[in-house]
Amino acid sequence: MDTGSFPYPDRGPAFCTCPLDRAEDRRGDDTWLAGALRRGRFLVVRNNRVRMVAGTPPRIAWHEAVALDSAIERGAPWVFLGVDGEGRPHFAVDGDGLSMAAEHVDLDVRSIAMQWAAAAAEDDETGVIAQALALLDWHRRHRFCAHCGALTTPRRAGYQRHCARCGAEHFPRTDPVVIMLVGDGARCLLGRQAHFPPGMYSALAGFVEPGETAEAAVRREVHEEAGIEVRDIRYAGSQPWPFPANLMLGFLATPRSFALRLDRNELEDARWVRRDEVAAALAGRSTRFFVPPPIAIAHNLIKSWLDASACQ
Ligand SMILES: [Zn+2]
Repeated sequence: MDTGSFPYPDRGPAFCTCPLDRAEDRRGDDTWLAGALRRGRFLVVRNNRVRMVAGTPPRIAWHEAVALDSAIERGAPWVFLGVDGEGRPHFAVDGDGLSMAAEHVDLDVRSIAMQWAAAAAEDDETGVIAQALALLDWHRRHRFCAHCGALTTPRRAGYQRHCARCGAEHFPRTDPVVIMLVGDGARCLLGRQAHFPPGMYSALAGFVEPGETAEAAVRREVHEEAGIEVRDIRYAGSQPWPFPANLMLGFLATPRSFALRLDRNELEDARWVRRDEVAAALAGRSTRFFVPPPIAIAHNLIKSWLDASACQ
């Protein structure tokens, strides 16, 4: 399939940098928080979109507290993000239903990450956006106690929910996902799920199960999905992926076998791809397939394998 060209700038995955100090020690200090809410700056999320100043790239439209006072008094959910280099507190607020100033726009978070990558801007704000989106989404989905079903209330600046009926404390959820690029010096394994855009191939991935190590999940997922045994599993890095609450754990691994046996419920296709074909796809020069953009950890894993296998 001819997929055209996909010129990717050379940068790391999105959502991995954060200019704020999370200041965990402030979360239980209600007196400090009350003052911080009056002098802080607020990121606004509405319907899973973030209020931004349009531009190249778009920037977070930080709102002064006075613009949101009445919404917070009426009970709009908020979370503390951290403090900047000057000690100024930063928050995120769920602005569903709020009317906002017309000079800003609500942008989809994937689109924001893509625009940041395309602009190759240095002061990446996407980590703050991931933190805000994941936390506010957790509050929206976890209003009731999982033990007794009663309504719960936020605590510790949004990092906990408390049930007054049974006393249970609930904490924000993060779901670990392993994503692994299996390859030797000559070729690597790329697959596609049915919901991928046509022509896109990526590293294999799957959720870590309860009571399982990340390395065991890598071994299990590659075997289940593609019938391949792997060895020499190496951790390569991680990436928050706030759709809604994944933590991608990236690995490289070496195949023990090459005969593919695909689980068609998981993968529409998978294939061994030669180094030169992978290099062409990474550079956006392949006419056969393309790989995820640099905002995704998969792109960076593929690039890492290509760089490492060049030395073998
Ligand atoms: Zn309860």
